[in-house]
Amino acid sequence: MEFSGLNAQYERLQEELKSAVVSVLDRGQFILGDEVNRLEQNLAQYVGRKHCIAVSSGTDALLMCLMAEGIGKGDCVLTTPFTFFATAEAISLTGATPVFVDINPDTYNIDPYCLGIVIKRIKREGLLTPRAVIAVDLFGLPAEYEKLENICSQHNLVLIEDAAQSFGAQRNNRKTCSFGKYAATSFFPAKPLGCYGDGGAVFCDCDEVAEILRSIRVHGQGENKYDNLRIGLNARLDEIQAAILNVKLKVFDSEIQERQRVANSYKNLLNNIVKTPREYNSLTNAYAQYTIAFRDKALRDFIYNGLLAQGIPCNIYYPTPLHLQPAYSDLQFHTMPNAEYASERVLSLPMHAYLTQQDIQLVCSALKELLSQFERESDNK
Ligand SMILES: *Cc1c(COP(=O)(O)O)cnc(C)c1O
Repeated sequence: MEFSGLNAQYERLQEELKSAVVSVLDRGQFILGDEVNRLEQNLAQYVGRKHCIAVSSGTDALLMCLMAEGIGKGDCVLTTPFTFFATAEAISLTGATPVFVDINPDTYNIDPYCLGIVIKRIKREGLLTPRAVIAVDLFGLPAEYEKLENICSQHNLVLIEDAAQSFGAQRNNRKTCSFGKYAATSFFPAKPLGCYGDGGAVFCDCDEVAEILRSIRVHGQGENKYDNLRIGLNARLDEIQAAILNVKLKVFDSEIQERQRVANSYKNLLNNIVKTPREYNSLTNAYAQYTIAFRDKALRDFIYNGLLAQGIPCNIYYPTPLHLQPAYSDLQFHTMPNAEYASERVLSLPMHAYLTQQDIQLVCSALKELLSQFERESDNK
């Protein structure tokens, strides 16, 4: 059984993928050509945004948003501690300081109420200038953008959506990547829409900002290739990856529906036994991960090791919240009880469009068997 379904997807699409790659080789244009242009148009239209700038990775996408705002030393950017390291790393790479805000334990996303409190605290302390908020749509579930937009406009902060895990999801009939002044996503192979290497994209609506982002993508270049207006990056997406994404985009909506099917089956089989992701009327979830939670760490670790021992792939996202990472040991952070609680209890099960009903049943019956084994062993102690 596969954890993220890349082999099964290749099986389905291989003829089209191979011919798309070969036609790039035949044409001989490898960087920023027709495939990238077509991808940018396709993606902007898909999410309902004016501009899409295809880039080299999700990490670079985030970094470029912060660079376009001129964020750096003495500034701080607020974000969640319960995310992949890249979210905070992009902040640190600019010279700014990440400030973490605890999560809502039900959504695993940044808690807007805590955000308001932390912004006021930073302003009172007066040591750092708050400039932006990066909200993450963790596991594929969109963050609470109506509230976040309000708080950000009240405090004059730039809102950035980290949609690396949520491409294809919706909130109140708006697609992810349409929220905030900027949205960043990733096409790392295991993300909901993945290429066969590294890739990402930035989305925005403002023409001026789009031009700055395009300049940053190629060494801060101006009109002329050897005219450098600012410090930038080499953050281009290549034609082969764009060609692959253009093929995968055609079946993407059907894959998102299949992920929902898998989530529904898991929920039916596990709902009364473990904490399963909540479904919301106004939201769709891209289900980058199907993440359940147990009552404590001992049980979670027992199930995790037990499933792996039976050859059922599963993962812990994330075992260490970012405020406790060694890379940030020089910074002083407040405790983040909800993020710490979640990191000890969560477990992500196999999730992709190509899981069969049989696969799902196998995972769930193995999990149930391990649960009763754990209870028996605890009773005997
Ligand atoms: C994967 C991921 C990133 C980074 O994307 P890369 O393409 O791997 O650089 C950033 N944020 C989140 C939440 C992610 O899951």
